[in-house]
Amino acid sequence: RAKSEGRGTYRFFEARMGMEVRDRRLLEHDLRHAVARGEMHLVYQPQTDVGSGAVTGFEVLLRWKHPERGLVSPAVFIPIAEESDAILQIGEWVLREACREAASWHKPLSLAVNVSAVQIHSPHFVGLLHEVLLQTGLAPGRLEVEVTETALIRDPNRALLTLRQLKGLGLRIAMDDFGTGYSSLSNLRSFPFDKIKIDGSFVRAVDSNEQTAAIVRSVLGLGRGLGLPVLAEGVETEAELSFLTAEHCHAAQGYLMGRPSPIEAFSQHTHGEVAIDEATRKRA
Ligand code: C2E
Ligand code: MG
Ligand code: MG
Ligand code: MG
Repeated sequence: RAKSEGRGTYRFFEARMGMEVRDRRLLEHDLRHAVARGEMHLVYQPQTDVGSGAVTGFEVLLRWKHPERGLVSPAVFIPIAEESDAILQIGEWVLREACREAASWHKPLSLAVNVSAVQIHSPHFVGLLHEVLLQTGLAPGRLEVEVTETALIRDPNRALLTLRQLKGLGLRIAMDDFGTGYSSLSNLRSFPFDKIKIDGSFVRAVDSNEQTAAIVRSVLGLGRGLGLPVLAEGVETEAELSFLTAEHCHAAQGYLMGRPSPIEAFSQHTHGEVAIDEATRKRA
């Protein structure tokens, strides 16, 4: 199932979106009702410590199952939701659901939530997070907010204030998709990040392309110099992971360690239980 959620879906819709503006309008309309109609669900992807291989937490990723179109990629519908402000309602739902879920885990694993520009610039965002933490009982130190540089540049002063207030609540901030923005280096200095996530496009083929390897090495050096842990996104092969291990990358995330899946797939990590498969059940 997770396999069908990959790039094929994205390309398919990307092509469609290019063809019809009207289609975009329709999606935008449907998005407004998607949460209320129960069409949204969440999947979780493990984040691991490169040294030990241990799962340290999960990133929550949103999925939309459209009644006629099937699964629509977040790469397609998040930008539409952002333009129409529907992202505020959807983002609030994601936060509440994911924090409630993480608070139920038997282990204090971290939860990373993606947050978009519209949310960061909303005057209610800090209050919402405060309320959700209180209501779910999730320890603030377990929550990490992932922001991209583009989410911060619209109104950098306001964004900085918000990020400082979020840190005041006790949560952590990760810079997502590092390397794909416009001014990564000055942003690293201006905003109070706790982690750098190297974009998957750099991680892929890091073992076979010398230029890519040099870029990833220098980001790791940058993280060391700034005292920020670095997580490599999109790790798909053992060779990529070996490279990251050799270069002392802190953390990793990618299909190799686990595809984004319903949280039940990871119950051995969240609850310390061993999943009983069909064969074991029959033997018992
Ligand atoms: P992101 O936050 O950078 O998330 C990482 C993306 O890489 C996810 O795509 C994930 O499924 C994919 N991925 C993970 N491991 C691998 C791998 O080994 N290989 C490859 N090829 N891809 C991998 P996804 O789930 O389609 O999400 C795309 C983007 O949509 C996310 O990028 C994030 O920016 C946005 N997004 C997803 N959920 C939310 C949400 O709840 N709120 C907001 N605001 N944005 C979201
Ligand atoms: Mg992310
Ligand atoms: Mg990313
Ligand atoms: Mg991204």
